[in-house]
Amino acid sequence: MTGTVYKSTGSWYTVKTEEGQLFDCRIKGKFRIKGIKSTNPVAVGDIVDFEPEPDGAAATGVITHIHDRRNYIVRKSVNLSKQKHIIAANIDTAYLLVTLKNPLTLTTFIDRFLVTAEAYDIEAVLLFNKSDQYDEEELLEVKYLAAMYRHVGYECIGVSAVTGKNIDKVKAQMQGKVSMFSGHSGVGKSTLVNAIAPGLSLRTAEISGQHKQGQHTTTFAEMFDLDFDARIIDTPGIKGFGIVDMEKEEIGDYFPEFFARKGECRFNNCLHVDEPHCAIKQALEDGEIPWSRYKSYLQILEGEDENYRTDIYSE
Ligand code: GDP
Ligand code: ZN
Repeated sequence: MTGTVYKSTGSWYTVKTEEGQLFDCRIKGKFRIKGIKSTNPVAVGDIVDFEPEPDGAAATGVITHIHDRRNYIVRKSVNLSKQKHIIAANIDTAYLLVTLKNPLTLTTFIDRFLVTAEAYDIEAVLLFNKSDQYDEEELLEVKYLAAMYRHVGYECIGVSAVTGKNIDKVKAQMQGKVSMFSGHSGVGKSTLVNAIAPGLSLRTAEISGQHKQGQHTTTFAEMFDLDFDARIIDTPGIKGFGIVDMEKEEIGDYFPEFFARKGECRFNNCLHVDEPHCAIKQALEDGEIPWSRYKSYLQILEGEDENYRTDIYSE
């Protein structure tokens, strides 16, 4: 039988078939996917083949095969530096919630998110939340940012989780897809998901309580079916992606407006820093590439913040 992994505890996996039947599955013996060194062989979102176990009343099974992943996001294990933990697989869209205040989301944070989504091959959408709390000047800034990112090629939606503004647009966008929501603590992830799917509460919210200190965050993701043919992957404690290990030369490939100019620099291996006849610097001068995007590019290139070297960082 075939199904999708909705939940995992590390040793048991809840697998749902197309018919909606649930099976508690486990893995027998050694089970490794070639090419990936990870602490968990199977992740939420994986499509798996399994053998149902005939004995007993409960629906249980043994996973025999994992289908090729379209993509997956990982977090580096703290203890075993080389080992990765696969948080989730087969994600269609990664939504980043952005707010200008309470809290402020910096463009460098947005850009890191977008670069990583490109590297992971996951569609990214920016949701400018809390649109109800801005004054005119702030609204202009949201407009400016949204126009800038739309120009690069990203879908941007101004929403309010509180008033419900454009929630229908987000739902339409989510239909038929697997989505995940990221953003700084306090941007409104839980409120938004609750507006999209009343009753569904994300565990991201639980972490920011009084017991934050010293408490280990559960990092097992979980998938939920929504009633409008959409699925959400809840990733507790994860506010965004960090930068995947990448070569300096490939970082520019994950900035679509840089990538569009590939081959136009004099030097093939141009890093767009101080090389002569650089098409990216020319586009900057001409106002075709925003300085904030270039600044983010330089930061990533320089690997300034070591926190971002891990593949996923948690709150
Ligand atoms: P999370 O940490 O990202 O899950 O953020 P929460 O959903 O817990 O929201 C943090 C705070 O922001 C709460 O007090 C929410 O009521 C508030 N909030 C969330 N969305 C909006 C919004 O669209 N407008 C306004 N004014 N407040 C919001
Ligand atoms: Zn260049």
